[in-house]
Amino acid sequence: MPNVHVSTHPLVAHHLAALRDPATPPPEFRRLVLQLTRLLGYEATATLATEASSAATPLGRTEVRRLAERIAIVPILRAGLGMVDGLLELIPDAEVWHVGLFRDETTLEPREYYNKLPARCGAGLAIVCDPMLATGGSAVRTCEILRAAGIPRIVLVALIASPQGIARLRESMPEVAIHVAAEDDGLDAAGYIVPGLGDAGDRQFSTLPHPG
Ligand code: URA
Repeated sequence: MPNVHVSTHPLVAHHLAALRDPATPPPEFRRLVLQLTRLLGYEATATLATEASSAATPLGRTEVRRLAERIAIVPILRAGLGMVDGLLELIPDAEVWHVGLFRDETTLEPREYYNKLPARCGAGLAIVCDPMLATGGSAVRTCEILRAAGIPRIVLVALIASPQGIARLRESMPEVAIHVAAEDDGLDAAGYIVPGLGDAGDRQFSTLPHPG
């Protein structure tokens, strides 16, 4: 499918296996989210625009290429937070624009509660990150916010996607490139990806219900 990239990298598969494991504790889960984001981010940034310039080396001058545009990383709160550092490691000069959406558990539709886009957006590329592309509602809403702010190119990096989430995002925003580690079977009645990995926010931030 054009614009949908499911990684075939062996390291992605290996780390995803550990991420799915219900026995993986939150510190290890966060480390794996970071590691997977680095790997997927590397693949997702393969087409970044660069421009040539001349630079000095200790031994002379050479032509070099540097990133040519402003880039924004847009984590969808809260689960996307754990992916920010992996992308910032790749693009330290990127801006980070937080978008807070929560899912209305009755309608399963996203409701916006936080939006920290700068007054003058002006980035050439926004990389939206959210570990789970489930129903696609949050991803579509975030891309709509970015489009309305005039961002010309949007890439979504997620860890696991459902076929429904991919279809919804492609239908609303066919030009948005989607990079994921895996496309799973589907969604359960609560909108969770099956087999998935459970709640990516709870597993990162230790907010799973405690027994007893
Ligand atoms: N959000 C999650 O954290 N997990 C899912 O499976 C779907 C949405």
